[in-house]
Amino acid sequence: MALWRPWHGCRKCSPGCQNCYVYRGDERYGRDASQVRTTREFDLPARGRRDGEPALRPGECVFTCLTSDFFIEEADAWRARAWRLMRARPDLMFYIITKRIDRFAVALPEDWGEGYGNVTVAVTCENQQKAAERIPLLLDAPIRHRELICEPLLEEIDLTAWLPGIEGVTAGGESGLRARLCRYEWVLALRDQCAAAGVPFTFKQTGALFEKDGREYRIPRREQLAQARRAGLDTRAPLEGEEPLLWEE
Ligand code: SF4
Repeated sequence: MALWRPWHGCRKCSPGCQNCYVYRGDERYGRDASQVRTTREFDLPARGRRDGEPALRPGECVFTCLTSDFFIEEADAWRARAWRLMRARPDLMFYIITKRIDRFAVALPEDWGEGYGNVTVAVTCENQQKAAERIPLLLDAPIRHRELICEPLLEEIDLTAWLPGIEGVTAGGESGLRARLCRYEWVLALRDQCAAAGVPFTFKQTGALFEKDGREYRIPRREQLAQARRAGLDTRAPLEGEEPLLWEE
């Protein structure tokens, strides 16, 4: 499992962005997260190590653009090159999470066809309205692997109508001092919908403010992943060597 951040920075566009971890992180260093810029690791998939091996090892799942949005307008001029880098590495699986699936077609490569087999696109649905806006666009787009990210989960969501054609659903709460509440029953409802549709489900993290059986808990960052795992709701087998990442798209 690897990270690739060809560009960094983003603009808030959705309720889930309110306490965006990219902004929180940049604030700590006095940087402006709303400035979208390319990074020094832009060509990481093409790079090699001193021992001659590729920097990204064959078979890895590469989480792409977790500190931006792959389809943000500012990156329109860079995206074609990023697609070329992905096309050149069919031995990797690139995993892209977006809130801007409405911009999916901008700068799409000519040979995209029904989608590159080594690209998964996941849309964030933090509430029912965003699910209704984004999932139909995801299902209509020529994409070979589609997933849903319900994180930060802000209310109970019914995904039932859209689950056919979805390969996985991940849910989680919100982290940080200003985290909004996530309720266990919302997570359970998603797990049950996925179980009924035969879609693998992952409860990735509780978030910092979690309610179960009518009681609210403040959960330290270091325990949010472990507590979610302990709930035993996951039906998706971890990838080889996978450690869950604390993204909050
Ligand atoms: S949550 Fe995602 S889409 Fe929203 S501002 Fe942050 S990086 Fe951008």
